Amino acid sequence: MSRQKAILISTRDDTSPKVSFKDAILNPSAPKGGLYTFSQLPKIQSISEFLSLSYEELSIKLFDLLCLDIEPALLKDCLSSYKAFDNTNNPAPLIPIDSKLAMLNLYSGPTRAFKDMALQPFGALLSHYAAQSETKHMILAATSGDTGPATLQSFANKPYIKVVCLYPYKGTSDVQRLQMTTQNAKNCKVIGIKGNFDDAQSALKSLLASASFTQALKERGIALSAANSLNIGRIAFQIIYHFWAYIQACKSGFISQGEKLPIVVPSGNFGNILGAFFAKKMGLPLGHLVVASNINNVLSDFINTGVYDISSRHLLTSQSPAMDILKSSNVERMLFALFGAKETSAFMHSLEHNGKYQLSKAQLEIVQADFKALYCNDTQCLESIAYGAKHALILDPHSAIAYYGARKLIGDSLIDKAVFLATAEWSKFAPSVWNALVQGGLVKETCTDDKQAIARLCAYAGLTPPAQIQALFEKAQIQQDVISPSDIPSHILQWLESGD
Ligand SMILES: *Cc1c(COP(=O)(O)O)cnc(C)c1O
Repeated sequence: MSRQKAILISTRDDTSPKVSFKDAILNPSAPKGGLYTFSQLPKIQSISEFLSLSYEELSIKLFDLLCLDIEPALLKDCLSSYKAFDNTNNPAPLIPIDSKLAMLNLYSGPTRAFKDMALQPFGALLSHYAAQSETKHMILAATSGDTGPATLQSFANKPYIKVVCLYPYKGTSDVQRLQMTTQNAKNCKVIGIKGNFDDAQSALKSLLASASFTQALKERGIALSAANSLNIGRIAFQIIYHFWAYIQACKSGFISQGEKLPIVVPSGNFGNILGAFFAKKMGLPLGHLVVASNINNVLSDFINTGVYDISSRHLLTSQSPAMDILKSSNVERMLFALFGAKETSAFMHSLEHNGKYQLSKAQLEIVQADFKALYCNDTQCLESIAYGAKHALILDPHSAIAYYGARKLIGDSLIDKAVFLATAEWSKFAPSVWNALVQGGLVKETCTDDKQAIARLCAYAGLTPPAQIQALFEKAQIQQDVISPSDIPSHILQWLESGD
């Protein structure tokens, strides 16, 4: 048992014992099938005392306020992973677009997607805790393309950690696939699944729930964990950059101190925007938090109508695959913060059994006091990319959805100003970006090849390809396994036998 402060509680049972941050990181499944979340959030006095802090100082201060009980030296060590980002002192720069719009760049890390913001320091932290408890951990990740590379990058060669990463073979961009298949760390195993992301996700869930698989690992002295955004360790790191965005907006004169700043977030599993919501509940003067969805618009419908209904929906594939999600797991943490464990538990029970739940009118008003929502189809997404390109802004399809949302709400006078979150770099989805320019009449000749599209975009927009991406095309593809979901458990155990 750790002697650390117990501050986290299950979203579905507030009578169960609280656990420490460390325990929740190592054992992320919470009582009654819930998620660990903050039993309460601290309040800041005023933003002014934060304005002069560096990113590291801000992180230490916020983690301290949140009672996460990490020694400053350890936290500093985890945060030193941001030194590999483009700007060593600023992992999340705020880029001014015009007097009403600014962009928070969350993709300047090693895998060029916002998942690095949390997974880089989280990987160091989890590995430290695993070593401290002298227990090997196997981290399972199912990815639609961004979590996998970020997880592998974060845990590669870390002691006490083994990583298994499941991805839908043929379901990712070339760049995303290469980011995984070229991973040569001995403690990492990448497995292509014959199927789509849902199949990869279901395979992961059945592994986590399989008594025989867990037992087989236990006999080898290995505990099982997952690196999805259900782990509160990732959410904690996602609170910090929302404060950082606000601080930069004040310092650059984009807003005045205390002014309410709306944030527009391209959302899938609701983890990124949950960080913003927690920051707002801690007293950061944020305006509306805007959920921007793609055509899988269950989240934006929920915020607008109070009905979360997946009973008759099918997952659609879109230009923004990281947001192709129907069950947005982190909504549960928002429901807990607003309505408590009993209500949350009833909603989730209804979702599991009827495929839907519905807020009361009063509850919907409470949600809408903090959130707005809209969605954008693929045509609008590609138009948004082309519009950006005309204004010297090259965005990936996910960021372009937030850009669309921010411009729409400002255009309709529903908000004055906004920061939109850019969650991936154009280089990860270069063919989509290039073809958006073709459709927008800016360039000719479509292109389906990632390497070629990157070269063309660089020539068109005067960009330099990021070194991390360019290097991928030269590396050997070591991780070539492609198997059926039913063969996964034996495949993993075989890998463990053959390893050290
Ligand atoms: C994961 C991801 C998202 C969605 O973030 P959530 O926290 O799941 O809402 C959006 N854009 C990109 C590029 C991503 O990788």
